[in-house]
Amino acid sequence: MTRILVISAHPDDETYGAGGTIRKHVLQGDEVTVMIVTDGVTARHDKTEMQQAAARLACERLGVSDVRFPGLPDQRLDGMPLLEVIRPISAVINDVRPEVVYTHHRGDANQDHRALFAATLVAVRPFGSNPVKKVLSYEVASSTEWGPPFNEWAFQPNVFVDISETLDDKLHAVEAYRETHQSEVPPYPHPRSPEATRIFAQHRGVMVGMKAAEAFVLVRSLKD
Ligand SMILES: [Zn+2]
Repeated sequence: MTRILVISAHPDDETYGAGGTIRKHVLQGDEVTVMIVTDGVTARHDKTEMQQAAARLACERLGVSDVRFPGLPDQRLDGMPLLEVIRPISAVINDVRPEVVYTHHRGDANQDHRALFAATLVAVRPFGSNPVKKVLSYEVASSTEWGPPFNEWAFQPNVFVDISETLDDKLHAVEAYRETHQSEVPPYPHPRSPEATRIFAQHRGVMVGMKAAEAFVLVRSLKD
């Protein structure tokens, strides 16, 4: 059994970015905690409870019951001292002692995603009693591929997880976000539509001879 922490800026990033992989961890008997760092909606409206309920339902469909909401402000992480973003991440790492952490990609178009990557990197420092042995960045449709076309921002995955057996569960989890105050599930051909989510998974899969995959950048891996 491995302890896993998935850090997500907004309710839905965890599902779009790593839903199939999360489900796979759960089926393998791993313990997964999802931390959704911002409320995800207050840049647009104040119905945070509906969004949290949708996130709980999505995670439940992936088999995760430990979902945490530190409640930082949506779309405003870049205006906060980085320390304030690091603090809840360090707290959850101290609490659940994860060996593997999934976080955002540093080159995403979304500023909260970028801030979380930076904060995660500090919170997982490989020093002292820090339990984290492996750090991976996931991609989020309509943010990662919308980053600027410069090498240092590019998402160049080097880890591919076969999700052909869990893609349907991921899509079921995505549907949990359809009925919130302002739906996070737009129609095709939006990159976050269910159809596009399947195509994305197939695209990442065929890159490496799988029917469906989620792709990650391995940031660090420590072996005993
Ligand atoms: Zn997001």
